[in-house]
Amino acid sequence: MVAREDLTTDEQLKSQLLLVRRGTAFWSRKVNELADDELDGASLLPGWTRRHVIAHVGYNARALTRLVQWANTGVETPMYSSPAARNEEIAYGATLPARALRHLDAHASVSLNVEWRDTPEEAWHHEVRTAQGRTVPLTETVWLRNREVWLHAIDLDNGARFSDVPREVLTRLLREIVGAWAAKDTDPGLRIQVTDAPEFGELGTAAGQDTGTLVRGDLSAVAQWASGRGGHRLQAGADVPNPRWI
Ligand code: ZN
Repeated sequence: MVAREDLTTDEQLKSQLLLVRRGTAFWSRKVNELADDELDGASLLPGWTRRHVIAHVGYNARALTRLVQWANTGVETPMYSSPAARNEEIAYGATLPARALRHLDAHASVSLNVEWRDTPEEAWHHEVRTAQGRTVPLTETVWLRNREVWLHAIDLDNGARFSDVPREVLTRLLREIVGAWAAKDTDPGLRIQVTDAPEFGELGTAAGQDTGTLVRGDLSAVAQWASGRGGHRLQAGADVPNPRWI
């Protein structure tokens, strides 16, 4: 049998692909730990059951697969035809029988992995457009998927925690969120201290100012709060509302 490996030789990209495969395994393990009747239970996302989360993660893999195909063929295939179509698809997926829902998720993530694996070096730099309308090189899809599988595993609310997520993912996530607040001008004057990651310095629009609203905690607690999943693990600022980031 021929060994199947990533066609890219870019070491940094290969390490991101490794991370996303670990994340996908983590996500799948949490899904598999749920009995069929537990799929009907609430997730951490308002208004969504676990079924909605699983359907969303499955359809997200299909949507990202379309971007990989776009980069490889030059034929424009957007992630979703519209935000409404995306939401309708999730609502539909959530009604599937448990077996079909699990199959959708598993099959979609395998397909995405195969498409990535077979993408030649050059196509990784072709530009595609995300669901938010950003134009990015195909390499960005690996990060987008990393974000999805790690965070939504936590959203299943059956034991995955922010402290299970690799620091590399939490670091990039936090930088992205703080950057989005700055871009949208939604930071109300925060001064954020990450106790176990001095490389950040202070974050937020009031960094270094005594008048800022202090939020302080370790990287996983700050990332949890910043992503809108509760501030109860923070050392300071547990009640500070997090600005929207997505
Ligand atoms: Zn998502």
